[in-house]
Parts: sequence; structure tokens; C-alpha cells
Amino acid sequence: MNVRCCCGAVMEAKALEEESPLSYHLRLCCTECASWVTVAGRLEDITLFAQRTLWSNEARHELDRLPPYVEPLVREEVESHAAKEGRALITVALFQEARLRGKVSWSQTAKDRLANVPAPIRSMAKVEIERMAVEQGLSEVTEALMDEAKAKFLGMRGRP
Ligand SMILES: [Zn+2]
Repeated sequence: MNVRCCCGAVMEAKALEEESPLSYHLRLCCTECASWVTVAGRLEDITLFAQRTLWSNEARHELDRLPPYVEPLVREEVESHAAKEGRALITVALFQEARLRGKVSWSQTAKDRLANVPAPIRSMAKVEIERMAVEQGLSEVTEALMDEAKAKFLGMRGRP
């Protein structure tokens, strides 16, 4: 999607902020004048405005926390994962997904259960469950871990 400024020039996605799993703020800046606008919405919606790879402020922070000699390698790893997945916007969830890739496998039943998680939070849930698996020294996501994760997520949303 092409957004034009009132001056006629193209506006480019310059910054991404992760407000919550359901709300992302993308700042578009004019390439000619000082104008800018913020588009707020779900990740899949605001992705339409991103023409090239853009790291969210939060994902960039994750990168900044790494030792300087590791940073370029991780950046490359995450960006190539994003490119392979066809994702222009690099979020914390995508960052962690790239970092955990290949470390944890999913049993078919666990995969089926993940498919039932609502789409907007699925990728985040996937990463969180994989992170829990790694923490517990598991190489596969089990039914028991899914139950534990479910209890945790429901707790987070304040439901019984
Ligand atoms: Zn302008």
C-alpha cells in the first residue's frame, strides 16, 4: 500500500511500537517534508504499510541487549528468518521465534491445539510455549506443557 503525504511525496514506515499483541503503532514519515502520521492496528493490517524490513522499537531493544560481537549474527539470523516467512515487520515475537527455531519441535496433538488459538495471538503463544519448553529443558512441546501454558495465558487475561 502506498501512502502519500499532502505535499505529494511518498510516506515511508519509519518506526514500529508494540502497544499490545492486538495493537501496533506504525509511524509513517514523509520522504520530502517533515510530516508524519501514525497508523494503529493489528500487525497483519499495519504490515500493508511497510515496504521494507523494519524492526519494532521493542525488538531493536532485544538486539541492543546482546553482546556487540553477537549482535550482527543475530540480526542476520532474524532478518533472514523474517524474509523467509515473508514478514517485513520484525516484532519481539518474530525475534524470539527466529532465535528458538529448530530448538523445539511440536507433537501433532500440540500442533492441533495451537491451531485452535485465535490467530491474532497465535504466533505470540507459540513463542511463549517454546520459550517455556526451552526453560524446562524439553525438546518437544507436550500436552502437559500446553495445559500449563493455557493456564498461564488465561491467568494473564484475568479469566477463571
Ligand atoms: Zn510531505
